[in-house]
Amino acid sequence: MGRVQGLVALVTGGASGLGFADAERLAGEGASVVITDLNEAAGSTAAARIGKGAIFLRQDVTSEQGWKDVMAEIDRRFGRLDILVNNAGIVHTATVEETTLDDFRRVNAIMSEGVFLGCKYAIPLMNKVDGGSIVNVSSLAALQGFAKVFAYAAAKGAVRSMTKAVAIHCQDQGYKIRCNSIHPGLIETPMIRERYNRTEVLAIPEEGVL
Ligand code: NAD
Repeated sequence: MGRVQGLVALVTGGASGLGFADAERLAGEGASVVITDLNEAAGSTAAARIGKGAIFLRQDVTSEQGWKDVMAEIDRRFGRLDILVNNAGIVHTATVEETTLDDFRRVNAIMSEGVFLGCKYAIPLMNKVDGGSIVNVSSLAALQGFAKVFAYAAAKGAVRSMTKAVAIHCQDQGYKIRCNSIHPGLIETPMIRERYNRTEVLAIPEEGVL
């Protein structure tokens, strides 16, 4: 029996990279997986690749109505949500001096506001049955000073601190919901390949990771 047999998982940004790997693994361990993503074509292909156990819903994580719609659809189809992986993200390369306010807001809308909305709307559906687990994808950039991805680092820092606040809130309320952040270093995914060629990826020093 899989480790998450019979559970329902939502993975945002699951069309590619780490989100796809998460979705594939969760389905392999017995969960019904809902992949959401802005990219409809890649999201549908991702769900088809996983096959039985995975479906795709289009979602822009910056849209509050979008979150309500996704949770309503999961409730309608499965009646429960056990696992949320707040994974969707983008990287924007610019220092504090180069970053425009629009860039800062765009990056934070996806990775800070998107994670906030995910936590907010997952909690009631998780509470409907047995509670659950929220995994927020932060980064090493939340822990160390990465000058070249300023807005990204700010968003991932927000993810780290809001995760702690959500976890303590759930504990205070007696909810059976865990909330953790993870902080990957550099992993060669489409996000990274868009910015660097392979030789550059291999040459990126530790302080250059995301
Ligand atoms: P990726 O580009 O392969 O995947 C990101 C996915 O998010 C894409 O499918 C994209 O379409 C989707 N997305 C972007 N904006 C969205 C939106 N508004 N709504 C819904 N979906 C949206 O990137 P990845 O490397 O797999 O990154 C996944 C997560 O891991 C991100 O949060 C990233 O910051 C984090 N991370 C990655 C690395 C790394 O080295 N790859 C390191 C640390 C953290």
